[in-house]
Amino acid sequence: MTEKNPAAPAEPGLQPLPNIPYPTLLRGQPALVTGANSGIGKAVALGLAAAGADVVVNYVTNPQTADEVAHQIEALGRRAIAIRADVSREEDVVAMFSQAVKHFGTLHVVCSNAGLQRDSPFDQMTIEQWNTVIGVNLTGQFLCTREAAREFKRRGVVETVSVAAGKIICMSSVHQEIPWAGHANYAASKGGVMLLMKTIAQELAPYRIRANSIAPGAIRTPINTAAWSTPEAYKELMTLVPYKRIGQPDDIARAAVWLASDAADYVTGATLFVDGGMTLFPGFTTGG
Ligand code: NAD
Repeated sequence: MTEKNPAAPAEPGLQPLPNIPYPTLLRGQPALVTGANSGIGKAVALGLAAAGADVVVNYVTNPQTADEVAHQIEALGRRAIAIRADVSREEDVVAMFSQAVKHFGTLHVVCSNAGLQRDSPFDQMTIEQWNTVIGVNLTGQFLCTREAAREFKRRGVVETVSVAAGKIICMSSVHQEIPWAGHANYAASKGGVMLLMKTIAQELAPYRIRANSIAPGAIRTPINTAAWSTPEAYKELMTLVPYKRIGQPDDIARAAVWLASDAADYVTGATLFVDGGMTLFPGFTTGG
């Protein structure tokens, strides 16, 4: 029998995936997830619900997909409401939080996930491409985390629910760390998220509000279809991933549930890289 070479590039779908139930750590803790009708946000919304939370499903386009996610959450026995808001617009975000608090009474977990790309060689990047990405990926995180902080501070700790007054999770990226040619706006937005998150974690810790980021590597979602949808692209992608499989949205959801729960109560200001080792300088695996 020929021995399996662990360093061989994986084929799509050949690596085993975890299949373990979600721990119900978030009962009585309503959550809000932005960009929750697609990809990672959808998985996080469903993961938080599986862990016991009622969930606000934020969306900006495709209301029917948001309704589908809300129905899936209800099928898990939780409550859900879909709310439209463009996270880059202050009035939308303020109105969404107000509606969410009215609906569920309060919020305990906010996952600021919505994001997009407008890629371009740097010298051809338009101000519109720049502003769109910064507006959603960075200003959107500012607006949503600010509204979260206001509600968490207003309510304070309810010990029977959680020992923290609230939990903020920012969806960052490995590109808060790894420069990315052709994506200056995106990398700048995620670098900004890193220090936004750390600063608010420092400022809000005395109020027992925790803020952390998740930095996904390559996750199979619509944002990066070109990177995994053909066998050639997938093989190329695997040269960047020591763990030799693409990430699934559920990999991120499980990290979000842990960060949102009291199991992570002493964790604040941290970025959890969920990237199959993408930030481990994979180019040095066989050399150097
Ligand atoms: P996606 O395109 O599937 O989902 C993005 C979501 O954000 C969608 O629901 C979209 O409608 C929403 N959105 C975009 N603009 C919005 C706005 N103005 N207001 C409200 N919602 C808005 O992509 P995804 O991969 O699920 O990305 C989710 C997050 O994860 C993003 O912040 C992205 O930067 C980050 N991320 C993704 C990967 C990956 O490999 N997929 C890697 C690192 C980081």
